Amino acid sequence: MRYDRDKFDIAVVGAGPAGSTAAEAAAKLGADVVLIERKREIGSPVQCGGFLPEVGELRDLLPSANIPETLAEIPERHILHRTSLQRIYAPSGKAKEFPVRGRVVDRRGFDRDLAWRAARAGARVLVETRAHLEGTALRLSGRTSGELEAKVVIGADGPSSATARGAKMAFRQEMGVCLEYEMADVDIDPAAAEMYFGTRSAPGGYAWIIALGEDVANVGVGARSAYLHGKRLRDVLDTFIRDHPIAKEKLQRGEVTAVMRGLVPAGDMPPAIQKGNVLLAGDAAGQVMATSGGGIPLAMVGGLAAGEVAARHIEGVGVLRDYPSRIATEMGKELENSVRIRQIVDKMMKSDRLMDALFAMLPPDQMKATQRGQIPKALDRVQDLVANR
Ligand SMILES: Cc1cc2nc3c(=O)[nH]c(=O)nc-3n(C[C@H](O)[C@H](O)[C@H](O)COP(=O)(O)OP(=O)(O)OC[C@H]3O[C@@H](n4cnc5c(N)ncnc54)[C@H](O)[C@@H]3O)c2cc1C
Repeated sequence: MRYDRDKFDIAVVGAGPAGSTAAEAAAKLGADVVLIERKREIGSPVQCGGFLPEVGELRDLLPSANIPETLAEIPERHILHRTSLQRIYAPSGKAKEFPVRGRVVDRRGFDRDLAWRAARAGARVLVETRAHLEGTALRLSGRTSGELEAKVVIGADGPSSATARGAKMAFRQEMGVCLEYEMADVDIDPAAAEMYFGTRSAPGGYAWIIALGEDVANVGVGARSAYLHGKRLRDVLDTFIRDHPIAKEKLQRGEVTAVMRGLVPAGDMPPAIQKGNVLLAGDAAGQVMATSGGGIPLAMVGGLAAGEVAARHIEGVGVLRDYPSRIATEMGKELENSVRIRQIVDKMMKSDRLMDALFAMLPPDQMKATQRGQIPKALDRVQDLVANR
C-alpha cells in the first residue's frame, strides 16, 4: 500500500515505550506526527519481563526526571502482579533482601495502550512497516511503502536502531543477550523479584525469578557474549532451572508456557543522541540502567523529552540541541553511575569468589543504592581494591 501523505513534522520510528510516548507528547503539542512500527501487532511478540518499580521508587531512582503520567499511573488492567521486595543471591547462595515495590506489566497490553494514546492525540500510525533512514528521507517497506520526509526524525527503534545507523550515529554498544521463560506451577515467593549471580548461572550478567502471581513467574537470564565462552544461552538458563541449588527447588516442577528473547544494551553512553534533525530515544540511545538492564522507565522519560523538544522545535520555540541537555539533566548522572558500577562489577564477575566478597561487603541498603545507580562508599573501596590487583 502506498501512503496518502509524504510530509510530516515529526516521524517516530518504533512504537515501543519510547516511540509511542514521544509520538503522544509531540502530537499533544500540536505537531503533525507519524509513528512507524515494523511489527504487525504493536507490543507483540513480547520481548520483556515487564518489571517496573512503583512510582515512588521511580522518583527516587530518577529524582530529576519528568516522569510521564503513563508511567506513574499504569492502568490496573495492565498490571499482572505486584512485588514488595528484591532478593539478591550471591554465587555462594547467600541472600540479601531489601524493600522495593514493583509492578509487573503485561507489555503487550501496555505497549498497545501507549500507541492508542498516541493515535488519540492525533498521530498517524503505520504498522507492519519498516522505516529506513536514507539521507533526509525515510524509506518505507512492508504494509506501507514509499518515502516520507519529516522535519524531525525520532529513532526509537530499539537496541539495533536502523535510524542510528542511517544517521551515522551508531556506536559500538556492548549488548546483553536475554532469554526468558514464563513458567507456571512454580513454588516461588510471590512477593519477591529475585536476582541470582554466578559464573555458571549467568556469565557476565544475572539470572532472575520475577513473580507473576502465586505460582507463575518470569524466569530468565541475561548474559554477555564475552563471558559465555561459546555456551548457548538456552543451556545456561536450563542449567539454572535444573541445577541451581536454590532456584531448582522453586522451579523444577514448573512448565514453560512462553519463551521470550532479545537484546539489552549494556548501558554504554552513545557519543551523540542528537545529530542534525535526528534524535535517538530509549534503547536506541542506550537509555538503560546498566546495573539491571531495566529500560522501560528510561525509555519513556527519554521518549517524553524527545517528543516535547521536537514539537517545540517545530513551533519555533526551542532547538533540537535542547534534547541532549535535557537528558543529561534528567538522567545523565544515573546513567553514568550505573555504567561505572557495571564496570566495577564486571571485573568481579569473572570470579565467584570475588563476587561473594563484594556481596559480603555491601549491606542491603547499599545494595539497593547500587541498583539505583548510586555509588555507595563500600563500592568505591572495592574499586580501589580492583584497581590495585
Ligand atoms: C528478555 C528481556 C527482558 C526484559 N525485561 C525488562 C524488565 O523486566 N524491565 C525493564 O524495565 N526492562 C526490561 N527489558 C528491557 C526493555 O524491554 C527495553 O529497555 C524497552 O523495551 C526499551 O523500549 P524502547 O521503546 O526503547 O524499545 P523497544 O521496546 O525495543 O521498541 C522498539 C520498537 O521499534 C520497532 N522497530 C525496530 N526497527 C524498526 C524499523 N526499522 N522500522 C520500524 N519499527 C522498528 C521494534 O519492532 C520495536 O517495537 C527487557 C529486555 C529483554 C530483551
